[in-house]
Amino acid sequence: MDSLENKIQKLISSFKGIEPGKILNVIIKHDNGCPALRSHNLSDCTCNPEIITKGENKNGN
Ligand SMILES: [Zn+2]
Repeated sequence: MDSLENKIQKLISSFKGIEPGKILNVIIKHDNGCPALRSHNLSDCTCNPEIITKGENKNGN
């Protein structure tokens, strides 16, 4: 299991490669039963979440 620090590092590194001016969507997928699903607090996370980032054009084109 990743430590909280590792999870945050993973989150930060997933932001890299997103160009400035793009809208960033961040989706953190937790395992079923992870306490962070209810608390929405990453520090409660006991699973190994999948972090998905998407940069989108502001005018949707
Ligand atoms: Zn989790």
